[in-house]
Amino acid sequence: AKAAGGDRYEVYDANRHDAQALRSTLSSGLRSALQRGDFALRYQPIVRLTDGVPIGAEVLLRWTHPEHGPIAPEIFIDLAEELGLIGQLGRWVLTRGCREAAGWYRELGDQAPFISVNLSARQLHDVGLADEVLRTLDEVGLPAHQLQLELTESALLGPAQGPADALEVLAEHGVRVAVDDFGTGYSNLAYLRRLPVRELKIAGAFIEGLAPGHPGTPADRQIVASVIALAHGLNLTVTAEGVETQEQAQLLRSMGCDHAQGWWFARPGDPEVISRMARGRDQS
Ligand code: C2E
Ligand code: CA
Ligand code: CA
Repeated sequence: AKAAGGDRYEVYDANRHDAQALRSTLSSGLRSALQRGDFALRYQPIVRLTDGVPIGAEVLLRWTHPEHGPIAPEIFIDLAEELGLIGQLGRWVLTRGCREAAGWYRELGDQAPFISVNLSARQLHDVGLADEVLRTLDEVGLPAHQLQLELTESALLGPAQGPADALEVLAEHGVRVAVDDFGTGYSNLAYLRRLPVRELKIAGAFIEGLAPGHPGTPADRQIVASVIALAHGLNLTVTAEGVETQEQAQLLRSMGCDHAQGWWFARPGDPEVISRMARGRDQS
């Protein structure tokens, strides 16, 4: 047992070494990518389930390392947080995303899809957040109601007053606040009372189990139904994420879910796909 333990330790150690080497390569890569603005944004439509109209689009950040290829956003975003670079990276995403949405707005007016931007916990706790968001909207000419901010439960939780005040200011201006991956974080729902939340996004993990035959089916259906009931009871809208099949989409629609997002409707793609879809709605 001791030898096996020793072996494992070696493997662990080797992994750790690799992981650390990769980490430092990625860290320096991230710094220079930031200097060059070497990132890309993908846009994924958020559709209204009753008629399939794209009412919004989530912005998803992409980074391709020159040697290591595409890096999962969870990995480089965590790293950017640790390195203190998330403020700069987040500003880049916000400005680019809002500028794109301002273009949709100029063309389509209030029929234009809103833009939904992910904010990390660190960004929410940044003292200048509200000012920065309002200034960006002003600069690019996007009305506040065309911007949604997605925050996870863990980012929203906690006693700090600063983030709550910032969200209050933004909400008063009309910015929407959505809870991302609702149901995967904490069971404490008190923050829903305290914060100006408009929408709950149900994590794809719960949507997977909606298909009959999936082992998670009875529980997942119950969870999804409960989240929809909770949201509507609180006068919030619900978006189901990770919708991959027509079956899931139909089921969600029959359950009264408002909005959906996922590969069944469209993979994250170029912003032109969103504007084309949104323009198409006028002809139907
Ligand atoms: P998220 O906010 O939950 O984003 C949804 C993820 O689900 C995206 O992964 C998207 O590509 C993926 N997805 C969309 N439709 C489907 C589907 O039908 N099936 C499946 N299996 N997956 C689907 P992605 O782009 O890899 O992003 C991963 C996470 O990285 C995001 O999760 C978000 O937490 C974070 N992230 C991405 N961009 C940003 C950003 O600009 N800022 C911050 N702070 N976080 C970001
Ligand atoms: Ca999100
Ligand atoms: Ca999510």
